[in-house]
Amino acid sequence: MAAMNVLSKAKSGARLPPLPTIRDLVRLYKLRAIKQLSQNFLMDERLTNKIVKAAGNINDNYVLEVGPGPGGITRSIIRKTPRKLVVVEKDRRFLPTLELLSESSKDFLNMEIVNGDILDYRTEQAFPDCPQHDWFGKRAPVHIIGNLPFAISTRLLINWLREMSLQIGAWSLGRSSLTLTFQKEVAERIVAPILSEQRCRLSVMNQVWSKAELKFIIPGKAFVPKPDVDVGVVTIVPLKTPLTTVHFDVVEKVARHIFSMRQKYCRRGVANLYPPEVREDLTELTFKIADVDPLARSFQLSTEECLRIAEAYNQLVMKHPEVEHYNYRAQKVQTIDEDY
Ligand code: SAM
Repeated sequence: MAAMNVLSKAKSGARLPPLPTIRDLVRLYKLRAIKQLSQNFLMDERLTNKIVKAAGNINDNYVLEVGPGPGGITRSIIRKTPRKLVVVEKDRRFLPTLELLSESSKDFLNMEIVNGDILDYRTEQAFPDCPQHDWFGKRAPVHIIGNLPFAISTRLLINWLREMSLQIGAWSLGRSSLTLTFQKEVAERIVAPILSEQRCRLSVMNQVWSKAELKFIIPGKAFVPKPDVDVGVVTIVPLKTPLTTVHFDVVEKVARHIFSMRQKYCRRGVANLYPPEVREDLTELTFKIADVDPLARSFQLSTEECLRIAEAYNQLVMKHPEVEHYNYRAQKVQTIDEDY
């Protein structure tokens, strides 16, 4: 174990000492994957390096890794010598392997291990030493990287997009970037353009506030245990100027309604924003103000058209505040295709 403390920092990054392989550690600590925590481990160093490379130059930057597990991606991050690395892992069983990495890199890396739930973690507390960067200047040197637990990936992304839109959390430091894995279908939804079959609420929400790119696909068989699906690696960088000034929550609510009935006219979903007694009138007015065809299907709407509907709804709510908290879903059973 003594050799593990000897780390050398080369110009091109840090060389790790002869640590046991991730595969050996998983075996040694009997780290059987827990399905409820969406645990699928990446053991292939070329792939973990490729994910970290997709984040861009992280040398001397601030990195928050979500769900490091046994530490495959963590090692690839450490080799790039960020200024500070915070890892947030819910499963205590991984703490020894993460502490091993922290100990091995302590001479040149400030690594903090947080044993907790990323859904409760306040990203603004990760990097108190990082100076604030001008939103309209270069990207902030702050990166959130993670092979995300599938079960919470969409929820996490929506939370982070919201923080991005309000310039809070990791985005209080400037335009911080995300490099994340999703189930391939979700990754395709995030970047789906108008007319695409995968177009959904998630596509619109991402494209209003960020530039999202699907960098590459990792086949399911690269993970242990193998998930039923392939995985897409997506980078998300905030736009300097988002496509709207309407509040995130309003755009999210309207986009959710627009895409709630994919096979029907978009008018049908939008109508459910309003209570029955004013539904017909306000729906007609919404499409008139927005100058959008109410008979279009949701996937046929551009991001700008979705935003014009959100802006029209916003205007109408100001005139008719009594409709603001109307919730159609409270009275209806949620349907499968409303999930995204
Ligand atoms: N990064 C590792 C890799 O690529 O091999 C593990 C990825 S695995 C898909 C997801 C990881 O997230 C697991 O280590 C799991 O324990 C952790 N995790 C699941 N839910 C979490 C949560 N709510 N907060 C923090 N970590 C979580």
